[in-house]
Amino acid sequence: MAGKKTKICVICKEKFSPEKDWKTCSFKCSKELRKLTHRKKNRRYHLKFRNEIFKLLGDRCLKCGFSDKRALQIDHLNGGGYRQRIGKNPITVYKYILQHPKEFQILCANCNQIKRVENLEFANKYKIPWQEQ
Ligand SMILES: [Zn+2]
Ligand SMILES: [Zn+2]
Repeated sequence: MAGKKTKICVICKEKFSPEKDWKTCSFKCSKELRKLTHRKKNRRYHLKFRNEIFKLLGDRCLKCGFSDKRALQIDHLNGGGYRQRIGKNPITVYKYILQHPKEFQILCANCNQIKRVENLEFANKYKIPWQEQ
């Protein structure tokens, strides 16, 4: 096997002898690789929108000031009903948020969860005095 380079397929990790500049051993693996790359690009696209939203709404939790973007969430002020109106496509959702920034706020995962629980309690008990202002 002198002179013949072997490579490791980036998908199935099998050794193979590439013709040209292949990163994968087979058609099947190359298809898989394309799918993965597409997903990565998609993620970047999402991140771009998220960053734009953070720029517009602020990049920290409105309640506690937490600023690690990995745990920041975009919260609709009146609950999640808007999603039913505009559909499930995340890009449409992002665009909607950018067009209606006043309907949203940034919360960290903790504060968002607390808000959700409080809202649920609010719905369960007919009236909570301290939430009536
Ligand atoms: Zn392979
Ligand atoms: Zn918070």
